[in-house]
Amino acid sequence: MKRRAIFWFRRDLRLADNPALLAAIAESEEIIPLFIMDDAVAHRAGDHRRAYLADSLRALDKSLNGTLHVISGNPVEVLTELIARYQVESVHCAAEYAPYGVFREKEIETHGIVLTKTGSPYAVAPGRVRKSDETPYRVYTPFFKMWAAHGWRTPVAPPKKINSVTPEKADRQFPDWKVPDGVVLQPAGEEAALKRWKSFQLNELEDYDQQRNLAGIDGTSKMSAHLRWGEIHPRTLLAGLGNSTGEQTFRKEIAWREFYADVLHHNPHTSRDYYAPRFANMRYDKPGEKFKAWCEGRTGFPFVDAAMRQLVQEGWMHNRTRMVVASFLVKDLHIEWQHGANYFMKYLIDNDIASNSHGWQWTAGCGTDASPYYRIFNPIEQGKRFDEEGLYIKKYIPELGHLSADQLHEPWLAPEGYAHGYPKRVVDHAVERLESLARLAEIKNAT
Ligand SMILES: Cc1cc2nc3c(=O)[nH]c(=O)nc-3n(C[C@H](O)[C@H](O)[C@H](O)COP(=O)(O)OP(=O)(O)OC[C@H]3O[C@@H](n4cnc5c(N)ncnc54)[C@H](O)[C@@H]3O)c2cc1C
Repeated sequence: MKRRAIFWFRRDLRLADNPALLAAIAESEEIIPLFIMDDAVAHRAGDHRRAYLADSLRALDKSLNGTLHVISGNPVEVLTELIARYQVESVHCAAEYAPYGVFREKEIETHGIVLTKTGSPYAVAPGRVRKSDETPYRVYTPFFKMWAAHGWRTPVAPPKKINSVTPEKADRQFPDWKVPDGVVLQPAGEEAALKRWKSFQLNELEDYDQQRNLAGIDGTSKMSAHLRWGEIHPRTLLAGLGNSTGEQTFRKEIAWREFYADVLHHNPHTSRDYYAPRFANMRYDKPGEKFKAWCEGRTGFPFVDAAMRQLVQEGWMHNRTRMVVASFLVKDLHIEWQHGANYFMKYLIDNDIASNSHGWQWTAGCGTDASPYYRIFNPIEQGKRFDEEGLYIKKYIPELGHLSADQLHEPWLAPEGYAHGYPKRVVDHAVERLESLARLAEIKNAT
């Protein structure tokens, strides 16, 4: 009987720089490369993410020469059955840190299955970087300094050879999830990730510092979905960075991802709940027609609407506009951040519970760091500043295609502004800004 190990792919759908995979190979004569289609997870994902995952699994299977086992069901049951069937000696994976992954690991371990965990989806595992008094960081900049000083391992090469068990037909349950009509997703998989990364390094990284905020150009790396699914590891990105301004800024952005994972690790309740608890006492409005307009990109504020349409058309949104639409939902429409975060989670192919919940909370003013609640984004000025030529608005809002760059940001001032069916504004930003500040004063006075 051959010595067999399961390698359980989760958020690491790649072969390169995958120390956990190398550990499984080193310990066995044959591995069972496995992806478990956890029903609970599959149901939560929207069509966009499902389609992306289906593509990513196909890409991984190709690099494994058609030996990826894809099995639907509860991970405890799937692992128990495979271990018995193949007399598996060990189960290898990378450690999970998001609350659901941790819950699943514990459940598996209580059933007597030992998981051999090597590495994590982060350059520095959450929980490792701490203040001198051993408490976790609550503010990004000191975290970043300590994280950079801590450092990370250099990437490891892909395995030279993988001896995999040939899967039975029943263990090839690849989902048939298609990209929804009218949607264009970025290509999934390890090869696509490495290709995009090389192209970004060559063409955009140098100017990343200036370009990263401009919503209308392709000035960011688009690594987020690749990182989310582990088609590339952050170590690989960090190893390719020097010390130019663009490279330094990019390193800091990777560190935001690591910071939020660390914050969530220490405060798992903040995936759904307030990091600053007093904001739970604020007066909020229930999501109704205005929320619907926000979701559908029909608020009448072009920069906000363009972004919400980008989300639906691409399963991705530019970071600048993620902040603008989040601020708009919480501070112009007075709706709790969780409604927006859930909507994002439905569409984003890069959905990441830590970055999403804390990106929302940061913008809503109830999260980590010094982003005070009273910092309220002006959706019109943000558009003028970060989409000066209106390239972004024009791309996603055909009803405004006839306007000049000067007119695009305020169609209500243009004589023909509403000629092609663009909706009127659902609120007056100046009025709602004051309303927001009044609601803030209420909780300030109450504490
Ligand atoms: C309300 C809100 C929700 C968000 N939800 C998510 C999410 O679900 N998943 C997600 O990956 N990111 C999220 N972000 C962070 C950020 O918007 C995306 O990571 C970024 O837009 C992805 O595009 P990119 O890969 O081209 O980024 P780049 O600018 O090229 O940055 C490189 C990488 O750095 C990391 N990064 C950059 N900015 C941030 C940030 N502010 N916070 C955390 N990590 C960052 C990402 O991993 C990103 O891929 C959210 C931000 C906000 C304000």
